Amino acid sequence: MTRIAVLIKQVPASDNVKMDEKTGTMIRSATDAELNPLDMYAVEEAIRLKEKLENAHISVISMGPPQAIEAIKEAISMGCDDGYLVSDRKFAGADTLSTAYTLSAAIRKLEGFDLIFCGERATDGETGQVGPSVATQLDMPVLTYVGKIDKFKNGVIRVHRSVEGGKEVVEASIPALISVIKEINEPRIPNLSGKIKSKKTLVPILDLSKIDAPSDKIGLSGSPTRVVKIFYPKLSRTGKVIKAKNAETAANELEKFMKSKGIL
Ligand SMILES: Cc1cc2nc3c(=O)[nH]c(=O)nc-3n(C[C@H](O)[C@H](O)[C@H](O)COP(=O)(O)OP(=O)(O)OC[C@H]3O[C@@H](n4cnc5c(N)ncnc54)[C@H](O)[C@@H]3O)c2cc1C
Repeated sequence: MTRIAVLIKQVPASDNVKMDEKTGTMIRSATDAELNPLDMYAVEEAIRLKEKLENAHISVISMGPPQAIEAIKEAISMGCDDGYLVSDRKFAGADTLSTAYTLSAAIRKLEGFDLIFCGERATDGETGQVGPSVATQLDMPVLTYVGKIDKFKNGVIRVHRSVEGGKEVVEASIPALISVIKEINEPRIPNLSGKIKSKKTLVPILDLSKIDAPSDKIGLSGSPTRVVKIFYPKLSRTGKVIKAKNAETAANELEKFMKSKGIL
């Protein structure tokens, strides 16, 4: 059987994210949450691969507060088999290194995954570091910016990576971690039977007692980065609106304006 894991994150549903300027952390309770939109492509690709294989199983794994179970259930309603929530108050305040460490410890505990899928980046933190960092901690190859899975046979996966100016076709032996880009597929909408299945599925919680992770590697104490200061940028620029009869006059006006500012 091929065992597939998909890493997903629950993120604020709104662009209007509120930050606590004193602590430098996000006020998560102030916003609705959703499954990271870019992770839906990872979920979809795992399901498509499972549909092609004779025998495969997909587990969704997320680290976050208890409400992240909703995001796991959404992935299950799309077609994943089960899910695990990595959650403990001691994991709070984790930066990307400590998040990846904790996720890797959970993956090691669940053992035996052949492929790990994740999204290109989370729409809140947006570092894109967690996937590659998990692969590094688990000592497995990482294939990033994957826009197509070309072949998966005899323990080797071949993918198309989107790189500047073109595509790169690369192969890796499994186990491997793959982060996908949104061009890879069109995520499906969960059907009724998927929704019923996800409602019935119990999502086990992996807390600190269930994974092997020393306290100096998790949460705030395992995080070498610190939010030193947080502030809202103040926009002081004043724009100039160029009104012209046609594109040529507008271009000439713009050129004049840019020359007057020393830009050209
Ligand atoms: C100093 C510091 C303190 C922080 N404190 C807090 C805090 O108190 N509370 C808090 O909620 N956040 C905190 N964060 C943010 C936290 O580190 C990030 O939410 C987390 O590491 C994910 O990083 P990212 O959003 O950049 O994900 P990316 O690296 O952009 O995500 C890439 C992919 O990795 C996977 N992934 C990412 N995160 C997860 C996850 N949690 N579970 C499963 N898969 C995942 C997804 O597939 C995602 O598409 C803190 C960050 C820093 C730097």
